[in-house]
Amino acid sequence: MKIGLVSFHTCPMADLGEKDAGGMNVYLLNLAAKLDSIGHTVYVFTRSHKHSEDSDMSVGTRSKLVHISAGPTESPKNELINLVFEFSRNIQIYTENENLYLDILHSHYWLSGLVGDLLSESWGIPHVITFHTLAKTKLRALTFGDEHTSRSASEYRLMCRSDKILVLTQKEVQDIDQLYGSFSNKISVVPPGVDLEIFYQSDKKASRYQLNIPGQNNVVLFVGRIDPIKGLDVLVKALAMISSVGVTTLYIVGGNEESNEYYQFIKSLVVELGLDDKVVFTGAIAHASLATYYSAADVLVLPSHYESLGFVVIEAMACGTPVVASRVGGIPSIVEHGSTGYLIPWRCPEAFATQIEVLLKNKDLHTFMSKEAIKKAYSLSWDASSEKAANLYSEVISGWTNTQAI
Ligand code: UDP
Repeated sequence: MKIGLVSFHTCPMADLGEKDAGGMNVYLLNLAAKLDSIGHTVYVFTRSHKHSEDSDMSVGTRSKLVHISAGPTESPKNELINLVFEFSRNIQIYTENENLYLDILHSHYWLSGLVGDLLSESWGIPHVITFHTLAKTKLRALTFGDEHTSRSASEYRLMCRSDKILVLTQKEVQDIDQLYGSFSNKISVVPPGVDLEIFYQSDKKASRYQLNIPGQNNVVLFVGRIDPIKGLDVLVKALAMISSVGVTTLYIVGGNEESNEYYQFIKSLVVELGLDDKVVFTGAIAHASLATYYSAADVLVLPSHYESLGFVVIEAMACGTPVVASRVGGIPSIVEHGSTGYLIPWRCPEAFATQIEVLLKNKDLHTFMSKEAIKKAYSLSWDASSEKAANLYSEVISGWTNTQAI
């Protein structure tokens, strides 16, 4: 198959952990590479940006990521809607020049969905969409935000018009059903995987030595974009309540943007609570180097208001690090309460502090959870995920061809 993946608002090769670059980027690159490894040709279309020096970059043996120009390279996300036509048109020009005919388009996030919708109609090919996050789930979790006013209406329209909605978890099926309407006949769940060549358990002492972390301290880890949806303030407050387990340090990995208001808020909260010597801000860390942080940590904490999945949770678990996380979105599909970590039903610092302390105090429990976490993470593979996605594309293509023939 020749498959087009559309990632309009973020480049899958962008530095992760910074603005707009997170789980979706990881998903896209792994999906593209694995589809390539099982014999498909994948074109990932993304918008040219300030770091995209080369227009084409190889993914696997025959596939590539293509930077397509549309508007100024530094256009803010909320202005991208005005560039949908230009981006779509330039993809069309690229395919015409390359004499390229795709069998199917799979777009990611609503803005790419608008592009996929236009192109699939123009080319007469089916369109699969993955939203990754939805305006209404985000709004339900966080009443403030700067979502584009037309986002949820566009999402609804795309749900109606696409040929298949591919979601990562069963929870998203429920969310769509509750918040947008009944689309269950066109939704398929394809769970993602984890790259076990990058994320595997290494010796804790050696990892700490490598990172210059004192061996005897307790290490609590947060990894992610520094964004209000991640609820990092809850974790900082929880840290202030942890007192019975020796020196505990919180490592905050992700986000380099000093201009980010929430980042500044977290920094001032750390000072206000007198935690300056207990919190380390590392900034964003290269994806491949993160395994050392996970292996060095005693626990990964993710206190999000909402997570469609939480890739960091699977990555930490693959490294044998139990997780304490909010019981939201797709997290419960990965973290089993009492087995691979703890799920906290409310975003109260006390509840997080209590469960973190339980894990830090009880070595046997920690060892048990660590083993269970590895087991669970190893059951999730990109091979299985990409095969499932490929089968889904084939079904959609054959169903679609039959409908056209009528
Ligand atoms: N990440 C990274 N470096 C960082 C911070 C994050 O490589 O400094 C990666 C992390 O490994 C994970 C992704 O960014 O794969 C974040 O995905 P997740 O689903 O946890 O959060 P999202 O950003 O999608 O909300």
